[in-house]
Amino acid sequence: RKVIKDVVCPFCGTLCDDLEVVVEDGEIVEVRHACRIGAAKFLTAQEDHRHTEPMIKENGEWKKIDYEDAAEETARILVEAKWPLMYGWSSTLCEAHEVGIEIAEKVGAVIDNTASVCHGPSTLGLQDAGVPSCTLGEVKNRADVIIYWGCNPMHAHPRHMSRYTAFTRGFFRPKGREDRTIIVVDPRRTATAELADVHLQVRPNEDYELISALRAAVHGIEIEREEVAGIPVEAVHEVADLIKEASFGTLFWGMGITMSRGRHRNIDNAICLIRDLNEYAKWTLIMMRGHYNVTGFNEVLTWTTGYPFAVDFSRGYPRYNPGEFSAVDVLIRGEVDAAFVIASDPGAHFPRKAVEHMARIPLVCVDPHWTPTAELADLYVPVTIAGIEWEGTAYRMDSVPIRMRKVVEPPESMLNDVEFLEMVIEKVEEMV
Ligand code: SF4
Repeated sequence: RKVIKDVVCPFCGTLCDDLEVVVEDGEIVEVRHACRIGAAKFLTAQEDHRHTEPMIKENGEWKKIDYEDAAEETARILVEAKWPLMYGWSSTLCEAHEVGIEIAEKVGAVIDNTASVCHGPSTLGLQDAGVPSCTLGEVKNRADVIIYWGCNPMHAHPRHMSRYTAFTRGFFRPKGREDRTIIVVDPRRTATAELADVHLQVRPNEDYELISALRAAVHGIEIEREEVAGIPVEAVHEVADLIKEASFGTLFWGMGITMSRGRHRNIDNAICLIRDLNEYAKWTLIMMRGHYNVTGFNEVLTWTTGYPFAVDFSRGYPRYNPGEFSAVDVLIRGEVDAAFVIASDPGAHFPRKAVEHMARIPLVCVDPHWTPTAELADLYVPVTIAGIEWEGTAYRMDSVPIRMRKVVEPPESMLNDVEFLEMVIEKVEEMV
């Protein structure tokens, strides 16, 4: 029985790095300090239902093949396609991203990750208006006012508030919760809103109006209305005063604002609010990233191509145009003629028309688990679990890279994402 300390949780973008995993005879028997979803990822990792060999669909029946043949078939699908899509990447490590991007360049694919259906608009907003950010460590030690806008960390990032914001003590915030004011902006009375000091119950799709009203109030401009986006003007002024008087504030935002009306314009406006606030106080912002390494893919793609997501290599050089080259759009328009999906499950989450097209074209699914995407695929390649069975780098939501640890040996003869992608690249090189 051994206790492995300082293990990083490969589930959400909080990347908690203080877990202890107890291993007995090669099996994970206990996980300490993790939230329930993080612990469940470790405790279910070694269940028997896992597939350990690649499978190909022939006449509607699944047939087992070896990794060599799976790599050959993947390479053939990608090379023969006129315009393949390589999508996913957010639940694997940066070492896999690097090889995947090289394959995309060699086969002239469009490559995209889950950011295009979550924080893509945030990225566009950041490119328009800049990113006055900080690390989660600075939030923990300094922040006295924290806004959660359009996100519900109590459910989606369960340890975020206890590790970095509301309930933790920091160097300049020794009394923890007492030293901090939490503001939640959400149309629903969420579990996070229940714990907040102020809940602004904005009307759905009117975030832009509320941000604009707050900007006006921060600058002392009179708002000639009784309410904005369902919030009485007095409350807007009260919150404006509160955030102006912060000594260190951080805005965390989620898909409640990126995917509501206005999309990247909401983020643009929110960044301008933070910029305005910096005339009076120190303010920063951080996106609440979902998949644990969604940030990592955006980082790796940016340092290899200059662009964070939705990149097309069909002309031999990277082109960036979300809307034109994002995964949902190229699928809905029926433009791509093959798809390679890794470390995500668009079969469960994409719009129906996109999933229908994915089911019509040759589809490869690389994932440790059997998913709805695997169900639709022509080739399924099981791989070992990143951050549990093999180690590498992931980026936390505040863009801090963290080394993920290996805690147990993977099933014998199974490959990890990097090993499989390296086999594919060799086969691609033989074919092109
Ligand atoms: Fe894992 Fe996120 Fe829970 Fe932390 S908050 S233990 S990273 S799932």
